[in-house]
Amino acid sequence: MTHGANLRVCIFCGWHGKLTREDAWPSWLMRELFPRGVPIRKTFGTNLQQLAAHAKVAADLRTKIEAVCYPCNHDWLGPKEAEIKSKLLTWMAGLHGPLGVDDQRQLAFWTIKTTMTVQLAYPASERGVPRNQYRQLHANTDRPPTGVHVFVGHQPERVPGNLFAIQPIDFTHPELTPLGLRMNPYRAYQATLVIKRLVLKVIGHNGPPSVQLPRIFPNLDAIRDLTEIWPPSSLFVR
Ligand SMILES: [Zn+2]
Repeated sequence: MTHGANLRVCIFCGWHGKLTREDAWPSWLMRELFPRGVPIRKTFGTNLQQLAAHAKVAADLRTKIEAVCYPCNHDWLGPKEAEIKSKLLTWMAGLHGPLGVDDQRQLAFWTIKTTMTVQLAYPASERGVPRNQYRQLHANTDRPPTGVHVFVGHQPERVPGNLFAIQPIDFTHPELTPLGLRMNPYRAYQATLVIKRLVLKVIGHNGPPSVQLPRIFPNLDAIRDLTEIWPPSSLFVR
């Protein structure tokens, strides 16, 4: 262990230096979930039935991550967390009231941000959100990167535990070059967070902005119970 061992690059802003040591899941959320003795479980699948059937307890759940610098934590993500916390607690208990456009943007930001930090805690999920989207989130400040779709839903019957799932999706997209049509490889992923009654889903890709959702996720029928909140598609969610 050398003196410089803790000097790394902030995954969000690219700053080189000493990084902070944080829970992958927001600390306030850990405190909210754990006194109840309800574990967060890793899983995979697209719909709730699959997610519940494949779930297993994440033994390394409280893994600390050392990937974010102090200014990013203290001046950017911390205030964002404080801003949404009380609303999130309400939505976790049940999604009953309308979600205005600001609520949708805040929740979409929180969903992709949390997917990014939780992904870092599980090396097996490294091929999920590509690194360039971490930098884009930082550049955007308060909204998801281009190519990110966020969906929200309400789980009428409680699945025991809280679930986290992320799966890579590979796809290619044609680009017209002077030498003809070339198929470029891109990265896409689907991620799901189920926290109490709140269901959050991200489908993202780092391909050209013109790539439409069905191109990377043909089975949209599997998520028909969820409502897209990013890009903002409606004024209200009920
Ligand atoms: Zn940073």
